[in-house]
Amino acid sequence: MTRSEGYAERSACGPSERGRASELAWGWGPTRVKMPRRRQGAGVGPRDAKKRFGQHFLEPAWADKVIRAIDPKPDEVFVEIGPGPGALTRRLAERARAVIAYEIDRDLAAALEKSRPLNVGVIEGDFLDAHISLEAEPTAPSSLRVAGNLPYNVASPILFKLVSMYHGGVHFSDATVMLQREVADRLVARPGSKEYGVLSVLIQHSADVKRLVTLPPGAFRPPPKVQSALVRLRFHPVDPPVRDAAVFESLVQAVFTRRRKTLANALLAFPPAVRLRPAVALKAAELDGRRRPEMLTVAEFVRLADALTGDSR
Ligand code: SAM
Repeated sequence: MTRSEGYAERSACGPSERGRASELAWGWGPTRVKMPRRRQGAGVGPRDAKKRFGQHFLEPAWADKVIRAIDPKPDEVFVEIGPGPGALTRRLAERARAVIAYEIDRDLAAALEKSRPLNVGVIEGDFLDAHISLEAEPTAPSSLRVAGNLPYNVASPILFKLVSMYHGGVHFSDATVMLQREVADRLVARPGSKEYGVLSVLIQHSADVKRLVTLPPGAFRPPPKVQSALVRLRFHPVDPPVRDAAVFESLVQAVFTRRRKTLANALLAFPPAVRLRPAVALKAAELDGRRRPEMLTVAEFVRLADALTGDSR
């Protein structure tokens, strides 16, 4: 996880991209639009491309269960990340107003384009490069829901991309996504547990996360080596508000590299804290430096970040 995968992306959505994205999302024809692809690098042959894209396709019975958990409604518009051959796409399209599906694999995108229901728009490209705008388009929905059986190799960047888009003005009402179970455990983890870490703090600062279903490897073809879990994220404005999101993010990342040290010691991994002297920042944040980073709540991390940016609450 890098800082650039956090909120910093907000500014990346300039007016020209917005216009283009609106056309992509709401114009409905042509529906298959190529986006620049950056992860399909030179030297990657077709044989290893599928693995590279984290392709594990849902078996029909499990796709039905996932759709029941998502519970699509006729007036809702979905953004689907990684439709693959379309197991979720078709089921969503039968129940919802429309589906906009981002698929990086050009063969799968082309096949889906040929067989797509009329209310599905296929966008061939990397979701991490996607720009969506709900502004100034009369036909645009007021909100979007997100669904996807995510490629596990880029699941965390995709989650941060969704958070970044939300804070950039794309107010997804929720995101129901399939993840490696271990990642789901980290998303819902509470302070003091071994799963609690950077992902837990940064995502919980912007979303309520609920685990919905756990799936065995046999729910997919080919089966992954790990268990999977379906989780729902409901995004919200950062809670509590933080003075400088970049300081907060890098502080959390730095201290978790020393999660079992004392907080005072772990702060030595964060250069701005060293400059300000850890004891001063800890006092301003009213935190005991003998505690361990893995015991701090999201609100306490925010207090510490604010103390380090000169705004103690
Ligand atoms: N939704 C299908 C299903 O459940 O059967 C496929 C899920 S498979 C786990 C992940 C899908 O995401 C693949 O089709 C893969 O090609 C696609 N994918 C991988 N990385 C992507 C990215 N960065 N942007 C968009 N799609 C991606």
